[in-house]
Amino acid sequence: MDLTRVRKQPLLMAVLIGIILLALFGTVLGKRAKPLPSEPVPEIAVEQPVQSVQPVQPVQPAVAAIKSHTVGEGETLSGIAEAYHIDVDTLLGANPEAGATLYPGDQLVVLPQKGVLHTVTGGDTLWRVSSIYNVEIAAILAANAKHGEGLAIGEKLFVPGGKPVAVDLPSAPASRASVSRFGWPASGEISSPFGSRWGRMHSGIDIANDIGTPVTAALAGRVTYAGWYGGYGYALMIAHGNGYSTLYGHLSAISVSAGQYVRTGQQIALMGSTGYSTGPHLHFEVRKDGQPLDPMNFLP
Ligand SMILES: [Zn+2]
Repeated sequence: MDLTRVRKQPLLMAVLIGIILLALFGTVLGKRAKPLPSEPVPEIAVEQPVQSVQPVQPVQPAVAAIKSHTVGEGETLSGIAEAYHIDVDTLLGANPEAGATLYPGDQLVVLPQKGVLHTVTGGDTLWRVSSIYNVEIAAILAANAKHGEGLAIGEKLFVPGGKPVAVDLPSAPASRASVSRFGWPASGEISSPFGSRWGRMHSGIDIANDIGTPVTAALAGRVTYAGWYGGYGYALMIAHGNGYSTLYGHLSAISVSAGQYVRTGQQIALMGSTGYSTGPHLHFEVRKDGQPLDPMNFLP
């Protein structure tokens, strides 16, 4: 009886040990067997956290890319716009205070792309700004790194793709949208057009009016000549950049001097009949690289 008990117990122990060993062996086998088919898994698992650690490039708001340009001598709006790969409208729209004038040393706001810099006024909402320029609210929000928060009066909003609204530019002549921004150099009647007449080439237009009628700069620029100029009598020449210049002839008085910068519409002289002239008028020329062009193609 006692013997069977003693003999049974080690047998039970042995069976138990055997089961434990088998279990251990099984798990070891299982552990060894599993990594073989799934070896690529740990590799991906190692790479994934590296990818998520890489910083996500924050979207640069357009407002941060707005630059300032200092106007240099002889520079034109079209030249500056071209240099920044935007159009003249965009440049004009961002600089309404610049008006028709462009002086060396002027600071111009240069937008990162075609669009409008809208200054928020009282009553402006995102919806209103969106409808003014016909640009989606989401695009405006994204360009300004905004998330729908309210607008502050005086805040500048970049409206990507927005076109300047004519109402915002009250001082602008009708032709402002084009590169040409000429104004009439004098009031009066066109007594002689540009072109050949009786075998003679008329290199400008004649605007007839009384002696003493104000003569104004057709476009902002630098006076390159002021004085007697042969058959033109007392004459003025203004350089506008990009090879463009204007000439004003038969003047009775000149009120600017060579080297001086003049604004569009600034009075520069008085109409007269000096030089080869048959009556009081202004002889007005537009030249590109010295070649006379029909001024009517430039005047509003
Ligand atoms: Zn003439």
